[in-house]
Amino acid sequence: MAGHQVTTSEFHGKHITVAGLGVSGVSAARALAGLGARVTVVDGGDGPALRERAAGLGADVTVRLNDADTLPEGTDLVVTSPGWRPDSPLFTAAAEAGVDVVGDVEIAWRLRGEGAPPWLAVTGTNGKTTTVRMLASILEAAGLRTAAVGNIGTPIVDVVLSQEPYDVLAVELSSYQLHWAPSLRAHSAAVLNLAPDHLDWHGSMQAYAADKGRVYEGNRIACVYNTADPRTEQLVRDADVEEGCRAIGFTLGPPGLSELGVVEGILVDRAFVDDRQRNAQELAEVSDVHPPAPHNIANALAAAALARAFGVEPKAVRDGLRAFRPDAHRIAHVADVAGVAYVDDSKATNTHAAEASLAAYESVVWIAGGLAKGATFDDLVTGAAGRLRGAVLLGADRALIKEALARHAPDVPVVDLDRTDTGAMAEAVREAARLAAPGDTVLLAPACASMDMFTHYGERGEAFAAAVRELAGPPADGRATEQ
Ligand code: ADP
Repeated sequence: MAGHQVTTSEFHGKHITVAGLGVSGVSAARALAGLGARVTVVDGGDGPALRERAAGLGADVTVRLNDADTLPEGTDLVVTSPGWRPDSPLFTAAAEAGVDVVGDVEIAWRLRGEGAPPWLAVTGTNGKTTTVRMLASILEAAGLRTAAVGNIGTPIVDVVLSQEPYDVLAVELSSYQLHWAPSLRAHSAAVLNLAPDHLDWHGSMQAYAADKGRVYEGNRIACVYNTADPRTEQLVRDADVEEGCRAIGFTLGPPGLSELGVVEGILVDRAFVDDRQRNAQELAEVSDVHPPAPHNIANALAAAALARAFGVEPKAVRDGLRAFRPDAHRIAHVADVAGVAYVDDSKATNTHAAEASLAAYESVVWIAGGLAKGATFDDLVTGAAGRLRGAVLLGADRALIKEALARHAPDVPVVDLDRTDTGAMAEAVREAARLAAPGDTVLLAPACASMDMFTHYGERGEAFAAAVRELAGPPADGRATEQ
């Protein structure tokens, strides 16, 4: 497929207000100004960093700092950054003035020119980045020109406007981005799972699910859902898709008709095969997936389903999965020390994610805590109780987890760390090491956000890894095997 060029656009001469001077706002402002729009960026903040960023946008773009609430005179369209709450005063003002509000994904979608590459889209509460990267790896193994974009990597507007000749894009979409992308129509899409998250933003679980479900709207070839999560299947049923578009399930068990699943350690396809009543196609082995934890096998099946919907051969699915390595802080094996494995899943920032990673190990010393974001921990602890050798709790909302442990796993020894300084994680790791026996896994899966003690989950994971290395001692002593 040839590269495509945007020659004209509906944005030329329009007065567009961009909400937020962050990464996506800057990219949208630049792109729209380049297309001949009159762009004003508004941001509620002020300060040297924002001013510098504003100056970098050049004279074509007007920037208004310290005022994010009023709609600039003459605005034809508002383009918002994903994080802005739907009840922001700017959007209320836009609604009153009859002006549409959309996100950068919508702009990117509308800018696709003749011959633009189709999108394979992924959303869900957890596993999006991993699945999209697996998908891109599979598509590359099939010899296709692709990129993993959306909520990750290069801003999607820049990718659409670039002259790179892509065959297909692997697109990660958050619920926020979907909320603001009404005309998006993917080739095929997957919803990996649905658990309560970001409800303060969406207002209710129903509204959150409805935004996730938008990813299926107008799909042409396949709507991929999780058979273990009936809500995802319901979203497929609710979607208005193109004639002939198929519902494809993925399961960790043997696949039924029109499903991908697992049989005796093999990932198999009973959806994209001839005579699927009788035939199944072997795609890869469970051991080809890194790491081979159950939830990650589910991610691999979803990625495989989207690739197969695009016509990718089985061998490329296997090669792509083999070549894939997860991003940092997602079930990353840091080291083995004295027969105990140390695993960094700092990205498990909600209970649903932590539940998945706890389920992947037989005997765990769990390091958890941070900002709970309104979550409760009873279900998580009840489900994991049988696997817990001990727990080390830190961070602002650790008492919530401690109480849940007292209620549902009273025999599990708990260390409650009442400190938030930079040495806290090192102490947590030392305490965990004390509780662990050979064969156990010490797992950082906080089930909470990190911002009470760290700038982000990455820094929290680094602190954990550094503490483990300290525990292991210098590499020369031969006790630690790092990856
Ligand atoms: P996202 O992009 O949706 O935040 P990631 O791929 O970055 O997802 O994974 C985030 C965390 O979610 C991982 O560290 C892991 O703990 C958990 N996770 C990954 N995939 C799944 C899944 N399919 N189901 C539940 N939890 C998962």
